[in-house]
Amino acid sequence: MADASPGGKKRIVFLGPPNSGKGTQAATLAESLGIPAISTGEMLRSAVGSGTELGERVKDIMESGQLVDDDTMADVIRARLAADDAVGGFLLDGYPRTTAQVETLRQILVERVDTLDDVVLIDAPDEVLSQRARKRLRQDGRKDDHEDVVRERLEVYRRQTEPLIEIYDKEGLLRRIDGDQAIEEVGRQVAAAVGES
Ligand code: ADP
Repeated sequence: MADASPGGKKRIVFLGPPNSGKGTQAATLAESLGIPAISTGEMLRSAVGSGTELGERVKDIMESGQLVDDDTMADVIRARLAADDAVGGFLLDGYPRTTAQVETLRQILVERVDTLDDVVLIDAPDEVLSQRARKRLRQDGRKDDHEDVVRERLEVYRRQTEPLIEIYDKEGLLRRIDGDQAIEEVGRQVAAAVGES
């Protein structure tokens, strides 16, 4: 799609199940493109960590593996995308996650007379994802990494987020990447998929 933003910066969405490696790839790509990597998961975890009103509100739902409600997320993402560093372009990691969120993002983009350039999907088979989750649990013990919560998050993804793949595919924006490869190889393919290689 034509790139019409000031400075030629891109608007990119990353999609993928928990433990697909999308957070790692999102940070790397955003840095090489000079755009902010906006991780809603990180934003919420930081709100929980610092005990803000938002943090208090989302803590339990996050720890259960469920999604925070769409209205709360609309406020979070609207405010973040209005910040100076996101005016030219951005990479969203973890938003949108529901069809209602697709509509919110669409509306925000209409208001700024902007469009998405690419939706990068990094996927891997369920057994690869749960194996990685077990490893991460041993390493850093994030609260939502416990086995039943991991299963719940994957189910929530397959049920609520996977339908987004078809929506963006129909718009010609979807770039599918196999996440079951070495990190560097995934990185090369992601860069190539958005025309950065
Ligand atoms: P992942 O490990 O899959 O990348 P994240 O760090 O993106 O997970 O998100 C962690 C949790 O934060 C989610 O399980 C969910 O509770 C909440 N969350 C993050 N982004 C959203 C969103 N767009 N809508 C609803 N909840 C969200």
